[in-house]
Amino acid sequence: MRNTESCEASREDNNPTGPPPGHSQRNCGNGHRLGGLLPSGPHHQYIKRTVSALLACVICWCCESIHAQRQPLYQSFDMRLGALPRRGYFNGEPALVYEVHLTNFSAAELTLDQLELVEEGSRRVRAQYSDANLAEIISRSDHASDPQAQLRIPAGLHATLYLTVPLTQFGSGVPKLVHRLTYTSETGRKERSVVEGAIFRIPIESPLVIAPPLRGEGWTAIYSDAWERGHRRVMFATRGIARIPGRYAIDWVRVAADGRHANGGDREPAHWIGYGSEVLAVADAVVAFTSDDMAEPATVDSARKVDIEDASGDYVVLDLGKGKYAFYEHLKPSSISVAVGVHVHRSQPIAAVGYTGQSTGPHLHFHVADSIAPLDSEGLPYVFDKYRIVGRFSSAEAFGAGNGWKSGSAEVHQNELPPPFAVVEFP
Ligand SMILES: [Zn+2]
Repeated sequence: MRNTESCEASREDNNPTGPPPGHSQRNCGNGHRLGGLLPSGPHHQYIKRTVSALLACVICWCCESIHAQRQPLYQSFDMRLGALPRRGYFNGEPALVYEVHLTNFSAAELTLDQLELVEEGSRRVRAQYSDANLAEIISRSDHASDPQAQLRIPAGLHATLYLTVPLTQFGSGVPKLVHRLTYTSETGRKERSVVEGAIFRIPIESPLVIAPPLRGEGWTAIYSDAWERGHRRVMFATRGIARIPGRYAIDWVRVAADGRHANGGDREPAHWIGYGSEVLAVADAVVAFTSDDMAEPATVDSARKVDIEDASGDYVVLDLGKGKYAFYEHLKPSSISVAVGVHVHRSQPIAAVGYTGQSTGPHLHFHVADSIAPLDSEGLPYVFDKYRIVGRFSSAEAFGAGNGWKSGSAEVHQNELPPPFAVVEFP
């Protein structure tokens, strides 16, 4: 027997058991050239032949196992979380609100087919996005607006998936979750691939409970997670990390019973119904920062554009403790009545609604974040301890046109955050 004989021949002659069925014996190379190391003579020849064949097949089997595990690898998506997901309140219900960042490391265009949020262990799919649903939650670094091309990610491009997953989709525990992304390569091999990543565990912490920042009726909650340039999708990368300060921001615009937001025309800021309304401390807190050097335009001009460092206009930051800060923006010039370092009490007036900074009309921009820096901070979830929802505009267009709002049951809500375009009465 030559020590270069085929593995298949060795198995047939001397090893009736051999490797399990289905294991090919080809592609062994020279891995079983062991005969020359064994003694000679007829008896020894038999032992040599048997041992050689057994060893050969064991080695071949190992070769084959290694070979069977070898899968073709392709450059794919880098998939990771930005800020850690938190329990929040969004669209009128408790939800996990977070982002998954994707970067296409392939040299080819990759088309997103599906994103699933899978519970590790049970492998139950807790949320699923595909086609139009997937296109709705994506924003790309090239700001492509073509809905048909939205899911075709060119080589090197970064895209962000903005997820708002209702907590009702999960059990009562704190399961570990993993994202499963299915995509298709558009060049060469036209086939579907799957990558998994961006693992996290549902956090235990509930949203911060605070008092409302305003009082009285007619306050409309303006926000949406679908707007390309709304707070939820506006990232600032001013100090080395891209962050979303306004993840849970709401713009509060005051309206009359018929839906008007101004009396006598809306060109002058002072004509707006909410203009000059008192802004209140949402908790016992310490004034962390004030900025009151911005002038207010004489007229409302929706095309007005300011530098991002001036976007907040005149603003106040309250330190709520435990690394949480409340931001009040676009305040009326000279209305800030508190100084840095001063302790304020819950519901104490601290300023007035105005029209400074980047704004399309007088309103209060309010959010909570993890740092005193307006742009270099991550938005944190919060809820209001008590308010009534007295109605709701049917859409952003209806609100913009002042088309009136549908009255509701004036139901009291506690420890929640109103849905978009709800008309709220604060205590
Ligand atoms: Zn705002």
